[in-house]
Amino acid sequence: MEKDERDKWLEAGRVGKEIREYGISLAKPGVPILDIAREIEKKTSEMGAKTAFPPNLSINTIAAHYTPKAGDTILLSKGDILKIDVGASIDGYLSDTAATLVVGESENPLCRAAREALEKAIEQVKPGAPIDNISRVIEQVIRDAGFSPISNLGGHGVGKYDLHESGFIPNIGGHSSGMIKRDGVIAIEPFATTGNGYVTESSEIQILAFKDDKPVRSKLGRDILEFVKKEYNELPFAKRWIVEKFGKLSELELKTLVRSGAMMEFNVLREESGGLVSQFEHSILIDGDEVIVTTR
Ligand code: MN
Ligand code: MN
Repeated sequence: MEKDERDKWLEAGRVGKEIREYGISLAKPGVPILDIAREIEKKTSEMGAKTAFPPNLSINTIAAHYTPKAGDTILLSKGDILKIDVGASIDGYLSDTAATLVVGESENPLCRAAREALEKAIEQVKPGAPIDNISRVIEQVIRDAGFSPISNLGGHGVGKYDLHESGFIPNIGGHSSGMIKRDGVIAIEPFATTGNGYVTESSEIQILAFKDDKPVRSKLGRDILEFVKKEYNELPFAKRWIVEKFGKLSELELKTLVRSGAMMEFNVLREESGGLVSQFEHSILIDGDEVIVTTR
């Protein structure tokens, strides 16, 4: 791997770690999650990076894809299971990292299970080794702790400007015949739950991404599309960012852009049986024989 490229992957990882830890430090009972998201976004740009995607702040039975809306009123409560999933972009070289905490309390067994699953899984990362080695370890650690892994969420390859490159890494064994790449970045993200271990899409949408150039009728629609392409490339962005910049009407316009195929939506993901969910995630650079956790 070229040195310049490697340095950017490492820097994206360093920023990802910093903003994750900063988010954790702010998560206290009574704090609005909108404030935490904004602080994370501010810190990201202060560090000379862009967000790889909006800070995901998902609480309790929400597994992923919640970022605060414009005017969000959600406050953290003592005992909430808060997942902070963040990432940075350095010229399109990305990081993707997450941690879970119990608001105002110390780590509980549910969080520990996902954290330990991630640590054990990382030990299995060897260039060219079966992806299933990772999946089996994740499932084992989480089941041994008395919880269920979420079977339809998992890790993935990470490419330049491509947050979910091919190479799905399941959180249960026996579902991948792939090999770990020999050059590039992967993200591993075990999810543990007290529920059945399956997420479904809720109807709520707070995160979108550019998909394809399509003819757009309205001036506002064209302005939003141009802005999104220039500012975020094909990386996910928050509905809140658009509403804050283009006003309340833009929310309807985004719907139109999705219908026309210009944009795609990421529905908020909820554990189907109502289980609590924990998640930990690291990005890992594989460069020849070297394996480096960039977000540790
Ligand atoms: Mn993530
Ligand atoms: Mn990820």
